[in-house]
Amino acid sequence: MAVQAQATEHINPYEVALRQYDRAVAYLDLPAGIKTFLRYPKRELSVNFPVRMDNGDIRMFSGYRVHHNTVLGPSKGGIRYAPRVDIDEVRALAMWMTWKCALVNLPYGGAKGGVVCDPYTMSQNELERLTRRYATEIILFISPHGDIPAPDMGTNAQTMAWIMDTYSMTVGYSVPAIVTGKPINVGGSQGRTEATGRGVIICMDEALRRGGHTNPSEIRVAIQGFGNVGTYAAKHAYDLGYKIIAISDVTGGYYNGKGLDIDDVMAYTRTSQHHQLAGYPNADPISNEELLALECDVLAPCALENQLTGDNAANIKAFLVVEGANGPTTPEADDILFSKGVEIIPDILANAGGVTVSYFEWVQGLQSFFWDVEEVNRQLRRVLIRAYDDVVQTRDQYEVDMRTAAQITAIKRVGDATRTRGIYP
Ligand code: GLU
Repeated sequence: MAVQAQATEHINPYEVALRQYDRAVAYLDLPAGIKTFLRYPKRELSVNFPVRMDNGDIRMFSGYRVHHNTVLGPSKGGIRYAPRVDIDEVRALAMWMTWKCALVNLPYGGAKGGVVCDPYTMSQNELERLTRRYATEIILFISPHGDIPAPDMGTNAQTMAWIMDTYSMTVGYSVPAIVTGKPINVGGSQGRTEATGRGVIICMDEALRRGGHTNPSEIRVAIQGFGNVGTYAAKHAYDLGYKIIAISDVTGGYYNGKGLDIDDVMAYTRTSQHHQLAGYPNADPISNEELLALECDVLAPCALENQLTGDNAANIKAFLVVEGANGPTTPEADDILFSKGVEIIPDILANAGGVTVSYFEWVQGLQSFFWDVEEVNRQLRRVLIRAYDDVVQTRDQYEVDMRTAAQITAIKRVGDATRTRGIYP
């Protein structure tokens, strides 16, 4: 579930993605033309389509699908349903997917999709009709070997099942590998729903361990966002013995200095209105800004872009920021946090668990051979820790911060592959 953007002015995520790119690519010895090529989205589709609402009215919706880069393989990335999605946000998210997939060594490029809508005010029937129509509108852009969508904010396993069904009906046979993040009974992978949050905590735990913090019960964690990423990050951290002192969603922040019982919170949101935290009894209400500025050890922004900005970064007291969301920190905030000595595990590493298990799901689907959850979680950990090691090595080699190091590592892989493939024709 989304948390309202706190930034006073609108910060364009695509400008943020390009600034991060320019900062990182400057360290690399690549031909100037290739550096420019990697800045551009490869192709973009913009669609406007009608949906019949439950009351009989016909409403127009706008959607997008952007392929940023396909040098390393088919493009991969989620579909977002949110009221404020626009082409620049989708471009930014597609570019981040390119770097994320390259960083964790998946044979994928980057893509993203979005539909401008408020899924929390629509019925299941309306969402199904919207999803099937959007899938039909972008059908020329997606395929199991060309571009493979997945869930993102406002979409879930059910959304993916509708896309898979729509695609399969159109081509005349079942194509489970057209999307990932599907329900398990139609070819989804064990562990996919939990994977992004689990990966966030694998990275957090690794950073803490390397910093000499080996006792989870002494570490106070604040998590912004209680959607798919925040919920499973909280759950995994809680199961490992970390103290989750605050969580939040669109309805506000919830604080308990003794540590929240995340099983109890999850039991509450399973039955609460819109699965939101409003009215959760075993915590004190706080604002989103108070949550970000809490006296804590780890802050995990797991909601939207542009949450840590030049306006509020100086207030952050955590010594470690782990980015479950895509793009939660602006370049101004990066500079402030770096100068304060706050370590950041950047989004393209910290939240790469989702797309990693998406890759496992795709491989399992193509082979029609399915793994148990232990195997999925073991392989997830292996992939993330190897990427973590690669980022640390790059950080030490170039003497840069963790975000720049992650971006350098990823951009270098895509740039080198571009040179190896050559420029067509
Ligand atoms: N939407 C997720 C992300 O931002 C997952 C994408 C995928 O699994 O393809 O990484």
